[in-house]
Amino acid sequence: MITFDGVTKRYPDGTVAVDGLDLQIPAGRITVLVGPSGCGKTTTLRMINRMVEPSAGTVRIDGRDVREIDPPTLRRGIGYVIQQAGLFPHRTVVDNIATVPFLLGRPKKEARRQARELMERVGLDEAMADRYPAQLSGGQQQRVGVARALAADPPILLMDEPFSAVDPIVRRGLQDEFLRLQAELEKTIVFVTHDIDEAVRLGHRIAVFRVGGALVQYATPEELLAE
Ligand code: ADP
Ligand code: ADP
Repeated sequence: MITFDGVTKRYPDGTVAVDGLDLQIPAGRITVLVGPSGCGKTTTLRMINRMVEPSAGTVRIDGRDVREIDPPTLRRGIGYVIQQAGLFPHRTVVDNIATVPFLLGRPKKEARRQARELMERVGLDEAMADRYPAQLSGGQQQRVGVARALAADPPILLMDEPFSAVDPIVRRGLQDEFLRLQAELEKTIVFVTHDIDEAVRLGHRIAVFRVGGALVQYATPEELLAE
């Protein structure tokens, strides 16, 4: 479980991105943070892996203040997927993914084998293995991004608009596969989107933010749809 306890983030220029957030994110489920651009979703997400430090309040993982967890351990336990996939442009698909197990100490050959397994898991054709990111479609790049985030087998996955840069039909396919994969893996997922339809489709729990960084609602998709 991830807990936000009275968390505020004020950037040095005075912008209050997140204002007094209390939120409990359950383990093993998908929690979606939704709301218009600028409402503090990304800031909230990045306070979990300490890319951003709160100005006040505490973020905890399983009861432990994230500031007390040493950064390498924290990062190994938290996968991170962003909109443009964040792939290494000069590495092939298989090496983009294999980099993670390799950095965790696996021999290169074993890391590549694991990367190929992950490619299959996220629905990437074997023929893509030796391509470079620029030779892939947006949807394929996102699959590589997800495979790479899964490579360290982290219990927590942070996803920031991972499907927003692809066209609606491809997005639908990625969402379906993501739901299947999550049913199998049962990771704790925090998923950011500005798209309420995507939030309702993917979230077990939905946290609705408004500009100014306040949480206005925390509900199940059924409760949201009933309104
Ligand atoms: P969202 O993900 O919902 O679009 P963000 O968390 O990115 O929102 O941003 C929330 C607010 O904080 C916005 O007003 C944004 O401009 C501001 N902000 C984000 N990052 C910074 C930063 N590094 N410095 C100053 N303001 C920032
Ligand atoms: P951007 O501003 O483009 O979103 P970031 O500064 O968030 O870029 O991150 C740069 C790259 O570093 C990203 O591609 C991301 O994959 C990687 N990265 C940053 N922090 C983490 C983390 N905690 N865990 C894994 N990867 C990370």
